[in-house]
Amino acid sequence: MEKLYKSLGISSQVAAYSEKILAGLEDRFKKIDETAEYNQLKVIKAMQDARVSAECFQATTGYGYNDLGRETLEQVYANVFHTEDALVRPQITCGTHALALALSANLRPGDEMISISGKPYDTLEEVIGIRPSCGSLAEYGVTYKQVELLADGGFDFEGIRSAIGEKTRLVEIQRSKGYLTRPTLSVEQIGEAIAFVKSINPEIICMVDNCYGEFVQRTEPSDFGADMVVGSLIKNPGGGLAPVGGYIAGTKTCVERAAYRLTSPGLGKEVGATLGVMQSFYQGLFLAPTVTAAALKGAIFAANLYEALGFKVIPGGSEERYDIIQAVEFGIPEGVIAFCEGIQSAAPVDSYVTPEPWAMPGYDSDVIMAAGAFVQGSSIELSADGPIKPPYAVYFQGGLTWPHAKLGIMKSLQRLYEKGLVKWEEQ
Ligand SMILES: *Cc1c(COP(=O)(O)O)cnc(C)c1O
Repeated sequence: MEKLYKSLGISSQVAAYSEKILAGLEDRFKKIDETAEYNQLKVIKAMQDARVSAECFQATTGYGYNDLGRETLEQVYANVFHTEDALVRPQITCGTHALALALSANLRPGDEMISISGKPYDTLEEVIGIRPSCGSLAEYGVTYKQVELLADGGFDFEGIRSAIGEKTRLVEIQRSKGYLTRPTLSVEQIGEAIAFVKSINPEIICMVDNCYGEFVQRTEPSDFGADMVVGSLIKNPGGGLAPVGGYIAGTKTCVERAAYRLTSPGLGKEVGATLGVMQSFYQGLFLAPTVTAAALKGAIFAANLYEALGFKVIPGGSEERYDIIQAVEFGIPEGVIAFCEGIQSAAPVDSYVTPEPWAMPGYDSDVIMAAGAFVQGSSIELSADGPIKPPYAVYFQGGLTWPHAKLGIMKSLQRLYEKGLVKWEEQ
């Protein structure tokens, strides 16, 4: 083992330090494995109940009428999320598309939507029209309000009560902190907020942006009254195998509206060829609980390792986890760059390239990104990115296997060490 780590560029000092940190994490990892076991059983039961068969993996083309694989998979998702129905399609191109679809399908001109978890994910700003954009909800006469979370990261119940009005048709809750530094919301907290909204008006649709949260806990927001949970298949539920796609699981009415919007009024769920991706959707979902566990272990390992070295980490090393994103603040650009170089050099794909900061469209500073992924942009695979601006924090997530996540973090530390950006006492 030591020899192999050495051949991958890990010094004995970094290896020893990593093992020392890991020795303190056994109990945390055991709990993660228990959650993975629970969710694995949940997925198997969902597949058995839906009578998944080898025929489900057949490709369809053209209209895709009577696609058994597609219909059964949507039943499997409904079983996993305990919802009436689900829409799971390769034609949903990404998480943003799934969210835009869920919103635009369920809102009508004159309606109002409220985000009750503060600022939504960046890409939703143009969907909603917070930043003016062609085809936004604002252009269709849907108005928008936002209720900030309280200083402690909890919901502002009084603020929500006064924001809700006659026109409020839909409330959006984002489970993960995304790339903000607020705490991630637990499903229990989300459930409380949904119950509160429904107590004011039971007709209000409660939609949860579930990205990065799936299978982190034993329950999902749909177990706590969400009318729709929405996410991307190149994050947790695709298990690293889905090459594309998104899902919406929820009430029959909400899912039907989404299907009518995705394909066409009148056609809805009945069309949509699956072109041979079904096996990867099934197999990815089957692997998703353990893949999510691997990513969680990586996040906790990194948090504890960098916290012990004196860096600010969000969430903290011993904090409860509700999503798979980990932030580490380096305070200087060199730290962010070295970290990303380390992650890149641990990848199975493109390990020999050096990531560099560049002016990405849509960002107000240079951004550096590390990813050596089998699926383009897949962030359930080990990946990291950081805007080159104060507080010089890197955000990283994913790892299809725990040993890979571990290697990536060790490589990041190795890189920081080699550049003289980290000091620790001799072991
Ligand atoms: C990733 C993400 C999205 C958008 O998903 P894309 O697939 O990148 O379009 C939306 N919300 C949250 C919280 C996310 O993490």
